[in-house]
Amino acid sequence: MLTRRQYAEARDRAAAMIRAAGVSLTEREVAEMDVADLGLGHLEVEGSCMVTFFNTQRVGAKVLALFPNQTMPEHWHTAIGSDPGKEETLRVIDGTLYLYVPGEATVKEGRVPPGKDACYTVRHEIVMHPTDQMTLQPGVRHWFQAGPAGAVLFSFSSSANSPLDPFTDPTIVRVTRIVD
Ligand code: ZN
Repeated sequence: MLTRRQYAEARDRAAAMIRAAGVSLTEREVAEMDVADLGLGHLEVEGSCMVTFFNTQRVGAKVLALFPNQTMPEHWHTAIGSDPGKEETLRVIDGTLYLYVPGEATVKEGRVPPGKDACYTVRHEIVMHPTDQMTLQPGVRHWFQAGPAGAVLFSFSSSANSPLDPFTDPTIVRVTRIVD
């Protein structure tokens, strides 16, 4: 849950980061930005801001901004009916991103949010800088965290149906509730 004021402040801060990274946004894209606090109530620690450029029946493209050290919690893109689930490519535009995927545990630069050990099960760290990109296959658990200066990244994918994608943390609510 976010207050309208918290929403507006996060949205404007994220828009400035995205524009500073050289990605132009329309006023409408800013106005409709998804500020995802994931129902956890600590946006600065876990959450992200994202603008969807398009999401057709087959392809989607977004830009995401993560505040300094902010974490997008562990999730995966699940199969729905005949759809095998979203294949997603992350490409860093600005800042540093720590991406975590299955494999040998190598967490070094980033850190699991305090008290959330059980919600972050994949611990293989990939440090990504601008122009680095990584493709994640459907069903592969992943999470990512911005470095100390924040991060801006593109997400290109097969069509996104994110409200249905599971997170490891059972307390997460994907659709942000905004209150006055
Ligand atoms: Zn993902």
